Amino acid sequence: EFIRKKKPDWLRAPLPGGPGYGETRSLVDKYQLHTVCESAKCPNLGECWARGTATMMILGDVCTRACGFCNIKTGRPPEYDLDEPRRVGEAAALMRLKHIVITSVNRDELPDGGAEIWAETIREIRRHSPGTQIEVLIPDFCGDWDALQIVLDERPEILNHNMESVKRLYKVVRPQAIYERSIELLRRAKAQGLTVKTGIMVGIGEREEEIEELIRDVTEGTRVTGVASDNPATNIDPFAVPDPNRNLPEGTTLERTVTGELKPALGEKLRRGGYLVQQTTNPYWKHDTPAKPQAAFAEARAAEVGYPHATYPGVHETCDILTIGQYLQPTRNHLPISRWVTPAEFVEYKRLAEEIGFRHCESGPLVRSSYHADEQVLQMEDV
Ligand code: SF4
Ligand code: SF4
Repeated sequence: EFIRKKKPDWLRAPLPGGPGYGETRSLVDKYQLHTVCESAKCPNLGECWARGTATMMILGDVCTRACGFCNIKTGRPPEYDLDEPRRVGEAAALMRLKHIVITSVNRDELPDGGAEIWAETIREIRRHSPGTQIEVLIPDFCGDWDALQIVLDERPEILNHNMESVKRLYKVVRPQAIYERSIELLRRAKAQGLTVKTGIMVGIGEREEEIEELIRDVTEGTRVTGVASDNPATNIDPFAVPDPNRNLPEGTTLERTVTGELKPALGEKLRRGGYLVQQTTNPYWKHDTPAKPQAAFAEARAAEVGYPHATYPGVHETCDILTIGQYLQPTRNHLPISRWVTPAEFVEYKRLAEEIGFRHCESGPLVRSSYHADEQVLQMEDV
């Protein structure tokens, strides 16, 4: 298929410039940080840097993987820089970021895939810049769920892991990744009550119907459905005390009222993977009670009994945010562009994603998972 070399007009982005751009540039240089904006040759660099946002890339700039679309160097990375988390934290504070996006290369050669440095980076941002909302765009840690847990335990405000493409294309787009494994990662984060996000590129060879298939796979694959209760007939028994000896599968949702007593042993078992669901049958909370005070109360009670998180009726139960953008070939050695997806088609994908189950979908030619990430979250809260 013949693809016009020249980009359609809707893909033209403003060139770098402006005072905000210069400030971001000098901070990035001074703190010796790596940004995806530069390594990925992102078309939004001028705009994002001018508004004081950048996506920091930690754990170096050499990746152990070689994805077909990615412009980041592949090879054996050098020792990692233990001081990097502090520098990211300080730069976040100086940039007065309301929202920061952090990502990393894959460090498959490290025993924990770099999870500890990830956790340390989140802590350092919180320490230096407590008001900043943290979005982490994480690798799959080769399916090492203990490593993933180290990051989840820091409870970033947004947990992002990109699916990148449809299942059939994994062998060329993400040869070292596994489609189901990435969905499982998203599910685990969702099961712990985090706000979960993923993203894909289009125009990289996928077929129309495969996009819908991916949206459905992610929605279904991340659904938190494993509700356990002492009353299997109804799953509603707000005051019953669960059997502490029952072996609940990891990731199971324990349906309990926050006003009920929880045995410490069970709390301990569920500390990883479980969470507490407030029930509408609770006489203290009526259906029309505003969600936010409920959530705050549930969180406080959950903390008391040792849960990492509480949730409440109406909570979104599948992956929350999806981003869809046009694939751009970084060099001639990368996968070719299969088509220019039109703005109208992007609108249609957004409609589809929100109809199938996402709370918010950001979809457009120039959309990248970190593009206007702060606003994506705001829009999600509006729904
Ligand atoms: Fe950087 Fe993301 Fe903006 Fe691109 S969209 S310039 S990667 S912050
Ligand atoms: Fe690029 Fe990430 Fe793939 Fe590494 S794992 S090649 S950084 S997309």
